[in-house]
Amino acid sequence: MLRKKISAAALAALLVLEGSFAFVPAQAVREEETDPPLLWDDDVCPRGDVVRDDVLLAEDARLILRASVDLETFSPETALLADVDNDGAVTASDARFVLRMSVSLEPLFSHVPGPPATIEAAQVCLVCGKELAPKLPDPYQYTKNGFRIEEKDGITYIDGVMVVNKTYSLPASYAPGDLHQDCYDAFYRMAAAARRQGLSLYIASGYRSYALQQSLFTRYCNRDGVAAAERYSARPGFSEHQSGYAIDLNSITNSFANTSEGRWVAAHCWEYGFILRYPKGKEWATGYMYEPWHIRYVGTDLSLTLRDNGLTLEEYFGITSIYPWDL
Ligand SMILES: [Zn+2]
Repeated sequence: MLRKKISAAALAALLVLEGSFAFVPAQAVREEETDPPLLWDDDVCPRGDVVRDDVLLAEDARLILRASVDLETFSPETALLADVDNDGAVTASDARFVLRMSVSLEPLFSHVPGPPATIEAAQVCLVCGKELAPKLPDPYQYTKNGFRIEEKDGITYIDGVMVVNKTYSLPASYAPGDLHQDCYDAFYRMAAAARRQGLSLYIASGYRSYALQQSLFTRYCNRDGVAAAERYSARPGFSEHQSGYAIDLNSITNSFANTSEGRWVAAHCWEYGFILRYPKGKEWATGYMYEPWHIRYVGTDLSLTLRDNGLTLEEYFGITSIYPWDL
């Protein structure tokens, strides 16, 4: 079996050509010109199989290949060398090399608007012969802070959490009819703990339908004017109460914050998976004035993270709460 020594430096050689691409270790080219380019791409072949890339280039973009070679060494004497046989298998007994490659597209003409053309790439595992599908572009959008945004049936989930605010609305047809069971369960656990302290928590307002929110918002607008109503009441479709994860506790007035119950909720609701959804001083982020009575169930992983970092949902996810027509 023909064997060759490939040093880490030679493996790092990088060819960037227009037209078709070949990624070939420099030393291997000298020794045997007909060898196919060998890659060991951890991402594509988790087993560590060697794959070959055949990459075609679109006419208005050029492909940039970046490679780095790491030798994971078990013995310092052989740190710089790894053996590769004709099948691409790495056989060094006391070291293995890991070749990492990334591919990116750079538009050739920066004034051309729109995304660069597509890459067609086929990867064939040289060990198992399997043709590997090219990686598809990521279909998801991400928030400013890197959380995945998913939209299902008109409902927005960010990092798996249903989000309802002035930016992300619910369709009128979304009508769970009541609070979700996990929200109820968490509330009853929290209320039981409060009761042990001699405190009484009750749900003043839980699930509200699109139609109910419509009539409430209209009533508030007639009473206080639209601008004032916008600060404390949501337009239909934008109310967190329609989600079935929001609860208004007890008295629905600012004075609730200064009651024993209000102070206990502010300190402890997080332990049961709730967050104070509209904290004081965060209207710029949440879109709503301080509401000490309004809590939102998000589960304890997220509620404790938000508590520990003093963040609202909007700040943590890196999202806005602004009506689309106000942008
Ligand atoms: Zn509320």
